[in-house]
Amino acid sequence: MHVSIVSTIPEKCRRCYACVRECPDKAIKVIAGQATVIAEQCVACGNCVKVCTQKAKRIEDATMLVSRMLSPGYVGTSFLVRIPIDRKSTEETNEHGKNGSAG
Ligand code: SF4
Ligand code: SF4
Repeated sequence: MHVSIVSTIPEKCRRCYACVRECPDKAIKVIAGQATVIAEQCVACGNCVKVCTQKAKRIEDATMLVSRMLSPGYVGTSFLVRIPIDRKSTEETNEHGKNGSAG
């Protein structure tokens, strides 16, 4: 059984259905008037959380989200995990690497 990574908070939801329209995998269905995430279809891209102006989407299990993102074949885009890249530091590392390998 799949557990939803993202769910809708009914009390906050204004039923605008932006999340339904913006889900790239059509994983949100309107059930009894409520936008409902279909866990089996969700690829954990986070887009519905991003587009909901009411903050009515809740991340249920961040561990599961990360584990799905790390699984082979994952193609979703992440809004949650942004690894800061220190370009200066990277360039310095590369520079040292070059100097070191040049002997
Ligand atoms: S975008 Fe937010 S407010 Fe609109 S239907 Fe989806 S959960 Fe509800
Ligand atoms: S996380 Fe992405 S795939 Fe899952 S329901 Fe939201 S928009 Fe759809």
